[in-house]
Amino acid sequence: MSTQTQSVPHYDLFIGGASVPASSGRTFETINPADGTVVATVAEGDAADVDRAVAAARACHDDVWSQMPVGERGRLLLRVAQRIQDRMAELAHLETLDMGGPTMWTAGTAMQAVEVFEYWAGMATKIQGEVNPSMLPGESLNYTLRESLGVVGGIVPWNGPLIMAAWKTAPAIACGNTVVLKPAELTPLTALELARCFADAGAPPGLFNVVPGFGPTAGAALAAHPDVDKIAFTGETTTGQEVARNAITNLKVVTLELGGKSPHIVFDDVDVDRAVANAIFGIYTNCGQVCTSGSRIFVHEKIHDVFVEKLVARAKAIRIGNPLDPMTQLGPLVSKEQFDRVSRYVKIGQEEGARMLCGGGKPDAPELAKGHYFSPTVFVDVDNRMKIAQEEIFGPVACVLRFSSEEDVLAKANDIVYGLAAGIQTNDIKRAHKLARRLKAGSVWINTYHRIETSCPFGGYKMSGYGRENGVGMVNYLTRTKSVAVDLNDYVMDLFA
Ligand code: NAD
Repeated sequence: MSTQTQSVPHYDLFIGGASVPASSGRTFETINPADGTVVATVAEGDAADVDRAVAAARACHDDVWSQMPVGERGRLLLRVAQRIQDRMAELAHLETLDMGGPTMWTAGTAMQAVEVFEYWAGMATKIQGEVNPSMLPGESLNYTLRESLGVVGGIVPWNGPLIMAAWKTAPAIACGNTVVLKPAELTPLTALELARCFADAGAPPGLFNVVPGFGPTAGAALAAHPDVDKIAFTGETTTGQEVARNAITNLKVVTLELGGKSPHIVFDDVDVDRAVANAIFGIYTNCGQVCTSGSRIFVHEKIHDVFVEKLVARAKAIRIGNPLDPMTQLGPLVSKEQFDRVSRYVKIGQEEGARMLCGGGKPDAPELAKGHYFSPTVFVDVDNRMKIAQEEIFGPVACVLRFSSEEDVLAKANDIVYGLAAGIQTNDIKRAHKLARRLKAGSVWINTYHRIETSCPFGGYKMSGYGRENGVGMVNYLTRTKSVAVDLNDYVMDLFA
């Protein structure tokens, strides 16, 4: 929650229902990637603040939230959804200032955040155990209870700050848990505004706590904390491995949503314009800073040249500009570091022998000079073993690969350490469904892309992580199952008689 003390707003931590400064008194700045100005100063939480937040979350869980009638849980989540909806334009604006995504994108993700809270508000009253058959002679009643885990720690990246915060928070709370969230250091603001939505909705103190800060300090402390029952992490694969190592100390439940390098396969029976539209959406959304980006575009050799011609024409026509302008389709990358990373990969691609047909650096327009803008880039003649085809660039860089047969493309598509998502463009329904079964990816989208829905499970295969978010199955990762057995017989099975 912000206070305007100097020329820029200041945000404190949110712990136990109140805004509080960091124990160390330290603060950091968050920068607008479109022009380099300071958006806000933010209290910098560390291990001591994580301790305070976990204590508040533990007390709320044990004394209040786990005892709360489930209908009350649902109603609170609905009130939070309403608060987000009431402030949607403001939240989208703030998210755009903080991370550079065009308002076209941030307004959409804010709307999705509302949907996430509404969905889980409904779920709060539907979490139930089962009656299980007994295999013993005689009569017994066996059933299961679904109990909350306790304190859930959420650690999220910068590329979709509000929707990531919603994914970590709403389901955990619906399942009776309390939450400590560590937003990304580059983009902490909308998570802190979400805390305000909770306060305005009448949430009990400690239900939702936000500790902005840096990964190796605040993030690592949360992952290792002995009184945290679960860590739900989204971020890079190597960070996820570190989080899992830290979380082992008290055998926390861990779910990991990690990086990706997703294949997007275009067969020769498609309407090329439609396939190009899906490919453009797949790779350039949020300037390519989406974990599921369709960054490896496999195109059948029969339509390769016409597809590439149209792809390049459309990439060049994308409207790059101030992300606050509702007409802007592509804003800046989130930071100078990200700009340098993408530039490095462009150089690597050229050295590897791929041919760059457009983009490759900052656009010329003088009004974009101060931002981390990067023109939509297309590489062709890419070989699947090249670094640019195997490593996550996380920028607006499309790699186009040619294929000749279904077996050929399947082998190449699966030949990668990641397995987050895959796209198939074809009008042959048998082929589409058969291929969907054989692709090693947590989500497969047919004749569409980025179709991530609140009601459908989402997560990775291989180095893209484990566990699932969204959909009813997520309850399994946010509750413990307790098995209860009752002997209903009139006799006792006295083996020591
Ligand atoms: P990152 O791994 O650098 O950081 C993610 C979060 O982890 C941040 O909050 C950071 O502060 C924290 N962190 C860093 N070091 C830590 C440590 N040692 N212990 C605990 N926490 C630590 O990722 P990023 O650069 O912010 O985000 C981009 C990455 O996220 C990409 O790889 C992208 O694919 C991935 N991502 C995955 C999904 C998914 O659902 N699979 C969604 C969005 C982004």
